[in-house]
Amino acid sequence: MKNVIYLLLIILFSLSLSACSVYYEKIEDPIKPEISVPSIDETSPDSGIISVIEEEDDQTIAVHYPIIGQSKIDDALKSFALNRIELFRQETADLKLTQEESLPFELHLDYEVVFKSDRHISLLFKENKYLGGAQPTSTIYTFNYNLEQGRQLALKDLFKGSSAYLEILSKYIFAKLVDDNALNVTLDTDWVTKGTNPLESNFKHFLFTNGGIIIIFEKYQIGPAFIGEPKIIIPFETFTAHIELKETIDDILPTTEDETTNSVEIITETSPTEMVIETTEPSTSSVSESVDNQETIALKRVALTFEDGPDPDYTPLILDTLKSRNQVATFFVQGIRAKEYPSLIQRINSEGHLIGNHTWSHPQLTHLSPEDMLQQLQKTQSVLEKITGRAPFLYRPSYGIYNENVISTNNMPAILWSVDPKDLKYKDASYITNYVLDHVTDGAIILLHDTNAYTTQALSSILDALIAEGYEIVTVDELLGITENTAKYNVRIFSQAIESH
Ligand code: ZN
Repeated sequence: MKNVIYLLLIILFSLSLSACSVYYEKIEDPIKPEISVPSIDETSPDSGIISVIEEEDDQTIAVHYPIIGQSKIDDALKSFALNRIELFRQETADLKLTQEESLPFELHLDYEVVFKSDRHISLLFKENKYLGGAQPTSTIYTFNYNLEQGRQLALKDLFKGSSAYLEILSKYIFAKLVDDNALNVTLDTDWVTKGTNPLESNFKHFLFTNGGIIIIFEKYQIGPAFIGEPKIIIPFETFTAHIELKETIDDILPTTEDETTNSVEIITETSPTEMVIETTEPSTSSVSESVDNQETIALKRVALTFEDGPDPDYTPLILDTLKSRNQVATFFVQGIRAKEYPSLIQRINSEGHLIGNHTWSHPQLTHLSPEDMLQQLQKTQSVLEKITGRAPFLYRPSYGIYNENVISTNNMPAILWSVDPKDLKYKDASYITNYVLDHVTDGAIILLHDTNAYTTQALSSILDALIAEGYEIVTVDELLGITENTAKYNVRIFSQAIESH
């Protein structure tokens, strides 16, 4: 059966050669959008994550913000995130990269849901910005909302009366830091006094946690740089012994459950073992297939890689297209999005595609300390392992930006690409299709994004043309001959398939 198909393909291919111009004209026709209404999967449509990823020669942007499902809050968070982008654009507009600062400017903003109940939510945003010079700057932002009213809460909104809460906070935290040595560092008393004076501005970063609030201090607020941005938890009893609360906080008071119940956990219904069995299937069958067909044709091979997803609108359509042609691809996913859409990760995995690590939230890894870099990779590893039962053994650094440090710190093969149609820049399905087909070679790794309509539209013509041209479409590990077991011997950069091993 397979042989018949290949024969047909060869005939089709030779026919298409003789009518090559016609063929390409056809591709350049406006491709009818195959996209209908995005299928609403089990992901609740009123919550999710928005990621803005942009790459230009001199600057990169990766900004993430959540959709909570409360329109007032969603609007506020969206405008916060867009304002950060706008400010960055203004700041970089007049800047020119100097020779030494050859890396692009960067805006990176991600967030964590630190507390969530039916009535309250606390979000911590971290911004890293690089505008040249030695170091990126980092800034934290905290947001606390009453979900029922869509109202943002300042610390003073929690308590009745005037500023008594500030006195309580100030005393409690000073005692913790100085008398109890809570950070295990001897701190300068004057410095701590200044940073914990009973002023609203000293306690502007707060978050709910089970039974109390977390105060986060800025760098240098209470001590030297090496203590970072210290966090102190203050139980609500500390306040309620002295003042009345204005905000009802039954949902935040301690319960019998431990703290971890409030960190938004991923629950996967499918058992990991089941998923693993499904994934191994396609690779086994493709091995026997190539043996069977050895006499027919020496196959050219290509790997399609999709990055920056999963995306609830486009990833399912990409998967549908791949499935309809019985083809596989590699998905380099962001951990922060995988956590939000575990069912998409399950689907990618169960349909035989390869999942790679594309960092947690798409920072330029070269701007991070080794600890932060490892966290970007490892948080993603563990989220993916929770969902699929196994952690990826390949990664792709964000924007393909790396240095020696990145390679040695992350103990995995780093997969770049050899064909880049710049599908995020050229928002045109036929351009993307033609670029890929004009540049594809045996062993090529194609860079695509499963986060936009144009790539989604282009995929069927890309697949059909590659198949017609005799390409075998494989996952990137198969293309490069790397397996889970041999990955640790291949800790280096792969940008082309055809390299000496
Ligand atoms: Zn990316």
